[in-house]
Amino acid sequence: MDTYTQFANSMVGQQLTKTLGLPQPAVLRRYDPDTPLLPGPVVLLGASSASEAVAEHLLQWDLDVRRHVAPNERIAGIVVVLDTVATPGDLGSTVLELGSLLRQLTPSARVVIVFRDPGGSEDPATRAARQGIEGFTRSLAKEMRHGATANGLVLHESLDASAPSVAGALRFVLSGRSAFVSGQVLRVSTVNGALPGDWKRPLEGKVAVVTGAARGIGAAIATVLHRDGAQIIGVDVPAAGESLAEVINSVSGTALQVDITSPEAGQRILQHAEERYGRLDVVVHNAGITRDKLLANMDHHRWDSVLAVNIESQLRINHDLLASELFSRPEKGSGPRIVSLASTSGIAGNRGQTNYAASKAGVIGMVAASAAQLESRHGTINAVAPGFIETEMTAKMPALPREVARRLSSLSQGGQPVDVAETVAFLASDAAGGINGETLRVCGQNLVGA
Ligand code: NAD
Repeated sequence: MDTYTQFANSMVGQQLTKTLGLPQPAVLRRYDPDTPLLPGPVVLLGASSASEAVAEHLLQWDLDVRRHVAPNERIAGIVVVLDTVATPGDLGSTVLELGSLLRQLTPSARVVIVFRDPGGSEDPATRAARQGIEGFTRSLAKEMRHGATANGLVLHESLDASAPSVAGALRFVLSGRSAFVSGQVLRVSTVNGALPGDWKRPLEGKVAVVTGAARGIGAAIATVLHRDGAQIIGVDVPAAGESLAEVINSVSGTALQVDITSPEAGQRILQHAEERYGRLDVVVHNAGITRDKLLANMDHHRWDSVLAVNIESQLRINHDLLASELFSRPEKGSGPRIVSLASTSGIAGNRGQTNYAASKAGVIGMVAASAAQLESRHGTINAVAPGFIETEMTAKMPALPREVARRLSSLSQGGQPVDVAETVAFLASDAAGGINGETLRVCGQNLVGA
């Protein structure tokens, strides 16, 4: 927790920030496998068969599901199913009912809006209504307080809401795993995937590679994937060997010192996985670098090195992975997973980061274009785009821009490496099998590029 957030949550700080109208970042409810999915009742709004299917999912998780609550009762979550709206005029009554409940939300509560893909309708009024829900959700997220979030779950036109892939995505947006995800829409396109036998160990039996695992977000990803049941292969450059060994020992994994830009990196990873584990299920492309300069001052070295590490190596390694039997083994329900680290800079652009933004936008394009190839192997490839995350990378920023970047989000704080790691772990799991070719922002709805 940063110093200001600590202060704002003290007795004096709460009073002072309120009086002065300063940001009031909440201490976010983060995922803990040993605590309930939601710490209170969840209200379900919207009447349709999809709403009934959603109710079934919620009940299976032992949640206290309500259609109505008393005016003074506290609510930990609201799920609004709007899959049958046909014109913008259909939205009013349900969203106003939602509005009337917002004051009853607990800190770090969840609002989830379930609707159909706008692109799935040719009818102008229906598409307007669905697109309207997207705008509504993003605006609502900006009105949430005390660490609460609002996100959309967009279902493909023909996807049955009772599918496990819908349950998997719904559970993610309700859980503490999505603490720093707000104002986003998550697209579920297929019925692929499966729910785990044990929600505390969704990656049991999987072998996962994490590049750039020696520190920062990569170290957090290794830790979270291991907690979720995976065996970890940590990859980093030889120069980071000592810290890589420390991280990898803490998760009882194995370390592989290799520069991912070397042409044989893909084969080295496959060979290591084959020899040590005899399988490879998940690859997380996390290693990344920045070499910031205004374009007018950019030299070949800065440009080329960022493109080489952040995107070209991933393209080359993916090519090797998809050509290999070890990674591509077609096994219904638990196909291969690739998760890549993009950045909000790749979506919104960032001054001084033309090279970095080109590479990270490249990642977003790569996952979209690779989705079909992965689907043919019952697998998925997705990207996670972090916003401002508290790491060594962002600690180096000058104080004022750093403070501005932190506070200019709907949650008024930077994210923690674990927030990115939780989203990566979800996308690596079988429960995320319906999500493919997507980029999910983990940015607290940062105003940059919102
Ligand atoms: P970091 O600099 O702390 O760690 C990156 C790791 O990657 C290091 O251990 C480094 O040794 C390793 N690495 C670099 N080049 C490598 C290579 N050629 N081969 C193998 N390993 C290599 O970075 P971080 O802040 O933890 O970021 C992790 C990822 O998240 C990066 O892709 C970054 O672009 C992305 N990201 C970070 C933020 C943030 O706020 N920190 C925001 C958006 C995106």
